[in-house]
Amino acid sequence: MTAKIISGTETAKAIREELKAEVEELKAKHNVVPGLVTILVGEDPASQSYVAAKNKTAHALGIHSEQITLPADTGEKELLDLVEKYNSDPKIHGILVQLPLPKHIDEGKVLFAIDPDKDVDGFHPVNVGKMMVGEQCFLPCTPHGVLELIQRSGTETSGAEVVVVGRSNIVGKPVANLMLQKREGGNATVTLCHTRTKDMDFHTKRADILIVAAGVPNMIKADQVKEGVVVIDVGVNRIGMSDSGKAILAGDVDFESVKEKAAAITPVPGGVGPMTITMLMKNTVQSARQHAGLA
Ligand code: NAP
Repeated sequence: MTAKIISGTETAKAIREELKAEVEELKAKHNVVPGLVTILVGEDPASQSYVAAKNKTAHALGIHSEQITLPADTGEKELLDLVEKYNSDPKIHGILVQLPLPKHIDEGKVLFAIDPDKDVDGFHPVNVGKMMVGEQCFLPCTPHGVLELIQRSGTETSGAEVVVVGRSNIVGKPVANLMLQKREGGNATVTLCHTRTKDMDFHTKRADILIVAAGVPNMIKADQVKEGVVVIDVGVNRIGMSDSGKAILAGDVDFESVKEKAAAITPVPGGVGPMTITMLMKNTVQSARQHAGLA
């Protein structure tokens, strides 16, 4: 069997078209322009490119976006004051503080300072708690993207054995939580694996849906999965440089071998990656609706 490719690029494109139409309608019918601010502290090149991509996408969808870049030695108080300013700015519906922050700033304190109603990254404990109990909230972008990919590829989750490799707060744990919620797109039986898992192959071989977010290039091989599995590879690992100076990326799944056994699989790049920014835009539009009393 050669797997169907679940294209994040194509799925993200379709969702962005839907969002663009929604933004136009919000403007035309309600005079509402969704607004996003991104705040970057320091000059980490990867963070700079993520933030630039977020602003570019926002602009392309007609979302008002402000890009704030602060020097690496910015004090915690200064950053908290800036967050506070945007908490009360009516033009802004989404606040994104790019992580990681420099070591002298308490990340938890900054995330906690963001108004939960503008927390479009879905990292505020209020939103994490609401997600946990299945209440309407801003879902964290990468797990939300995984969920959309699974649903839009027509994969049935109800009753499925879902195995998640990785238990980080930003991917593994929330993905596992979303998969077991009692609603459409959930209702799975979920197993969460990590570095202390005793026999990982035992679990991965049982998976109907295997979601891998470990950060280890090409870790999952064909002999660790069953025939017909649906594989979502969240991993993004830089494994080298091309002659033209572009990073060569690999996922956490050995795509070439696993695609011969899987029913469907996401590629890297072009899988979960494009979905993450798209879900940030979706959350921003949702926030604008909520602030305007339209949701
Ligand atoms: P992380 O915080 O480093 O967490 C990695 C998790 O994987 C940990 O729970 C770790 O277990 C587990 N793990 C690592 N090696 C393992 C192994 N050999 N066997 C079993 N479990 C193992 O990473 P993350 O932030 O969740 O990111 C994971 C990957 O997803 C990275 O490649 C990252 O670049 C990518 N990512 C992509 C996107 C996107 O938009 N596409 C977004 C976020 C992250 P322990 O807890 O026991 O240490």
